[in-house]
Amino acid sequence: MKSELKPEALVEFVRETYQTNKFIPLHAPTFAGNEKAYVLETIESTFVSSVGKFVDDFERQIETFTGSRKAVATVNGTAALHAALYMAGVARGDLVITQALTFVATCNALYHMGAEPIFVDVSPVSLGLCPKAVDSFLNEYAERTDIGCIHKSTGKKIKAVVPMHTFGHPVELDELVAICLKWNLALVEDAAESLGSFYKGKHTGTIGDFGAVSFNGNKIITTGGGGMVLCKTQQQGARTKHVTTTAKVPHPYEFFHDEPGFNYRMPNLNAALGCAQMEVLEPYLKQKRLLAESYKDFFNGTDFQFVTEPDYAQSNYWLNVVICSEREQRNELLEKTNQAGVMTRPVWQLMHRLPMFEHSICDDLSYSEFIEGHLVNLPSTPLSYQQGKQ
Ligand SMILES: *Cc1c(COP(=O)(O)O)cnc(C)c1O
Repeated sequence: MKSELKPEALVEFVRETYQTNKFIPLHAPTFAGNEKAYVLETIESTFVSSVGKFVDDFERQIETFTGSRKAVATVNGTAALHAALYMAGVARGDLVITQALTFVATCNALYHMGAEPIFVDVSPVSLGLCPKAVDSFLNEYAERTDIGCIHKSTGKKIKAVVPMHTFGHPVELDELVAICLKWNLALVEDAAESLGSFYKGKHTGTIGDFGAVSFNGNKIITTGGGGMVLCKTQQQGARTKHVTTTAKVPHPYEFFHDEPGFNYRMPNLNAALGCAQMEVLEPYLKQKRLLAESYKDFFNGTDFQFVTEPDYAQSNYWLNVVICSEREQRNELLEKTNQAGVMTRPVWQLMHRLPMFEHSICDDLSYSEFIEGHLVNLPSTPLSYQQGKQ
């Protein structure tokens, strides 16, 4: 027998957890370490922009933490995803399989390459792209040819699969890797939300051909704005660096650029913030696990289902998630908590409902639609790192 839980009880629980009567945000950045010192160092040295040691340091720290062979810092996560898709060979007119349950940045990156999304359902195991759904979509609507995987009814090339690790929970990667091998598709992981999340011991974003991370202000750690492309080889890393920094051929004074490049380089000022944030990532992750544990205990036995990490994964619990049993219950929860100054949010509207993607190819999206109507994100700032509580 499940007990009925009132929104007021959740408000009380969250207030008790954070020990405050003030407004409680969904996820606030916290600067409790060397952030000020490192940022000040860039200002005093005048190296705030495209030259300076923090960008290299930050990239090396991300490589060490994730196990990526080569990490390339960018201005934001969308730019990292754009560059990753470009490196994976996605081109104008191509089709790319992704999920409709994602933040719009995933699809914007595709759109600006001239590529088009195919929306496939998400899995109840991960809330991310469902391998079974991708497999059956390809079996029904695609064929393997000498020039690659072709979408039968439009004759367009399907070039890549882009799963997104929703709210930090890793997707079923072994299955997706096998599908991509079988169909000759690139696998680009949108790991924007999953820094600190591991799939069978490997960091998300390092298993596919390329991965993209975000350091936007609402992510687990922030550089103000920023992103990172995770590459599998030194060679791909070097080329990613080259194309994201105007494709300039090194020379003491001549300007020669050997291909159309992007100006996606992360400024040294932002990287300084990133280096300081990397020093607190491990304690943040521990704090977030404790917070998730306490939400899990709180919702246990109620008519709400708190989402925990899949068996095969260790999640960063970037944003905590609860699934309501009824849509009305979700609406009431959102209304009452926000009214009481405890910030909660529904999930993004599905991508195929947005005007620019409403004519995209869609597979069955029943589970995505269920999640869209029942999911609520809960306050998730790491506990003892709240502003002013250090
Ligand atoms: C945050 C995010 C991005 C990238 O966002 P930026 O704001 O450009 O850094 C991409 N995909 C998803 C799913 C995200 O949540």
